[in-house]
Amino acid sequence: MGTTNRLLGTGVGVVSRTWTLSRDLVRGVVTLASPQTCVCCGEWIAGVEGMFCHACRKQLDWGMSLHYCRRCGRTQALESIHEEHCGRCKHERFWNVAGLARVGLYTPRLQNALLDLKYRGRLRNADAMAGLLAAVIRKQSWAYEIEALVPVPMHWLRRLQRPCNHANVLATETGKRLGVPVIPAVGRTRHGRSQVDLPSMTQRFKNVEGCFAIRAGWLDRLSWRGTSVKGRTVCIIDNLAKTGATLYEVSKVLRKAGAKRIYAAVVSRPASPGDPVSRPGGDPW
Ligand SMILES: [Zn+2]
Ligand SMILES: [Zn+2]
Repeated sequence: MGTTNRLLGTGVGVVSRTWTLSRDLVRGVVTLASPQTCVCCGEWIAGVEGMFCHACRKQLDWGMSLHYCRRCGRTQALESIHEEHCGRCKHERFWNVAGLARVGLYTPRLQNALLDLKYRGRLRNADAMAGLLAAVIRKQSWAYEIEALVPVPMHWLRRLQRPCNHANVLATETGKRLGVPVIPAVGRTRHGRSQVDLPSMTQRFKNVEGCFAIRAGWLDRLSWRGTSVKGRTVCIIDNLAKTGATLYEVSKVLRKAGAKRIYAAVVSRPASPGDPVSRPGGDPW
């Protein structure tokens, strides 16, 4: 009887191992045989390469390796960056987030990936960008303080015009990777012009002034399980920070709601008017 059981056990083990091996083999062949496109440039790549082609990956790594101010996210030479600020944000009294993490420079490849997400609803791009966002957040000294992610909100009228709420999708995917909840605590109360059309810093600040408020309706509270930002350290998530006007307004609302400390993370911080032009030598653009 004992011998029969042992033989039976060995047989089951062999079948199980053979099944696992065959499944892994089939999965490997399917991945290799089903190429996909790079999220940045659209080139066909083998599934095993991930979501970026070699050239885009190289450029992303380069952009991520450049020095940037941990307070405002501007890419600059190391000499211009001091411990708590840089030569530029030192004079920006409005800057009210404790730290800003960014993935890289607003290179044409990163721009393509973000525009495809924002205007064409390519959710796969959000997945790829969230992977990068989570990686840069983990590198911050404040990474383990974060208790919730707060996406920059979109007005419901704008949402009707767009295929997706890009900041919300980015926050959701980043939250999954970091194991941090997403609290869409802030809502957009006024449908203003898109910041993209406004070139000057003053116009951008004016355009978003008073546009945000804490979502306090019973339906809102139900949808994010009544969680409040009061007493919590939060991180605002968006695709870009250009002048910092939107982050400033959202941060004001969060502070008023009792948030303990406010950080922000964006995919890129493009140069804004008056910024030093920072394109260090040897860049692979
Ligand atoms: Zn590519
Ligand atoms: Zn700075």
